Amino acid sequence: TLVLLNFIHISNSGCKNSIATSLIPPYEILSSIQTLALDGYLSLKDNEDTAKDFGNIYHFPPLAVLHPKTVSDISITIKHIFELGPATELKVAARGHGHSLQGQSQAPGGLVINMESLQGGETMKVHSGGEFPYVDVSGGDLWINILHDTLKHGLAPKSWTDYLHLTVGGTLSNAGISGQAFKHGPQINNIFQLEVVTGKGEVVTCSQHQNADLFHGVLGGLGQFGIITRARISLEPAPKMVKWIRVLYSEFSMFSKDQDYLISLENTFDYIEGFVIINRSGILDSWRSSFSPMDPLQASQFNLDGKTFYCLEMAKYFNPDEAEVMNQSVDQLLSGLSFIPPTLFLSEVSYVEFLDRVHVSEKKLRAKGLWEVPHPWLNLLIPKSDIHGFAEEVFGKILKDTSNGPILIYPVNQTRWNSKTSLVTPEEDVFYLVAFLSSAVPSPTGANSLEHILTQNKRILDFCKRAKLRVKQYLPHYTAQEEWQVHFGTRWEAFVERKTAYDPLALLAPGQRIFQKAM
Ligand code: FAD
Repeated sequence: TLVLLNFIHISNSGCKNSIATSLIPPYEILSSIQTLALDGYLSLKDNEDTAKDFGNIYHFPPLAVLHPKTVSDISITIKHIFELGPATELKVAARGHGHSLQGQSQAPGGLVINMESLQGGETMKVHSGGEFPYVDVSGGDLWINILHDTLKHGLAPKSWTDYLHLTVGGTLSNAGISGQAFKHGPQINNIFQLEVVTGKGEVVTCSQHQNADLFHGVLGGLGQFGIITRARISLEPAPKMVKWIRVLYSEFSMFSKDQDYLISLENTFDYIEGFVIINRSGILDSWRSSFSPMDPLQASQFNLDGKTFYCLEMAKYFNPDEAEVMNQSVDQLLSGLSFIPPTLFLSEVSYVEFLDRVHVSEKKLRAKGLWEVPHPWLNLLIPKSDIHGFAEEVFGKILKDTSNGPILIYPVNQTRWNSKTSLVTPEEDVFYLVAFLSSAVPSPTGANSLEHILTQNKRILDFCKRAKLRVKQYLPHYTAQEEWQVHFGTRWEAFVERKTAYDPLALLAPGQRIFQKAM
């Protein structure tokens, strides 16, 4: 029903436009694009593939897919569409790895630009000398490839996502948040420079010193102001190994107190996350392939008994010759925490194994046919002062178990985040990312059905509204512009001004459903 309603919404808005302004039909624009001298090519055969995404809930095919070989292919094409003026009806979506959740990288009846066609080539260049090493990458490069390439120079980006098979343009359009973000900020904090093709087809280099408004606008800008064709990413010396630790708490207050304490320290772990376990008796057994309990006997007698637990997950980077100092520092940090002693689980893995950990789960899920199912994910940013009220109502009351996917929860220091980007966060120094990463899997009881999970998500959002929690959605999804206005709050006007400046015909990223018409 959701898909159908949305389709009707989009079709209707298209109809109204065509009555009012006698628009140029998209297929005519497409024919004219076919006459452009491009290094890459336009395909009419990949439409079904680009109508899919990881969310697997919305499926809108485009009219055509551009496989650019050069940045100029993107610039020429967009300039051509832009120069047709307000009569143009063809919207354009850059598609990274298509791992959006609600059709954000789709262009219903429009043009999709397959950014991965730009990947690799000559653009990935590591500059290892100097005080601030960096790598220049294409907007369509996957983070996993950037990791492997930079490691050849003993370097790596500082801030990650939990899953690395995503493109640079895709994560920088949102933020790119993981367990390093409390220390380094999200990925959008760690960019020195971008090259962007605007909605007018102009190729612009920008940084915080040059075309700064576009630079800050594009970072976290949901693809609204331009297509990222190149990014200069800050690097740091890469460790070889990672000490990876999990401990459990039965009290949310103790768990969050320890998380807050750890992110407030100067010398602390390199990665801090956490997750909620509700009614999952066998979960400790499933950890045994990756982790060893500190005290195997006590751990084997520990009973989760269907209750709610909170897992604090930490990692400390090290090189093999620093193992002793690292272990002392870890012991000291752990001694300041109040977890349940028998639940201390430890592991030592390579840096790549640690960063690429979700890919292991992906392979297992794919093998069982459980990767390409609908993913009605809900990601929220919640201020520290509201997190206890949220946890009390949601964990155990609204949500009775976590069998349909993990729930991540961890705090970050907003003071270390750049406030000039387009990303919207709660206005408090510390806020939590809470990610409900559900998979809708058919079952006889319907307990994990798409409808059931969507209803649950709605109950969570309704509660936040009722309780007046100052929550912001991350990877936001709304269907009406009024909701976007509320999301951006006092920053809405600036967002609209940037749209008017850089994409006045509202050609770009229609799948975000923020702007339907020319400005
Ligand atoms: P796409 O889905 O292809 O595109 C996303 C949006 O960005 C679209 O609007 C698209 O038009 C736009 N876009 C794409 N490329 C460009 C470009 N070059 N220039 C401008 N706009 C562009 N996020 C986190 O922050 N932290 C996580 O830990 C995390 N883990 C994840 C784990 C999994 C398994 C999945 C599926 C997603 C995860 N995400 C996480 C969310 C992810 O960062 C976003 O969905 C991201 O947009 C996906 O990147 P993509 O390359 O697939 O982008």
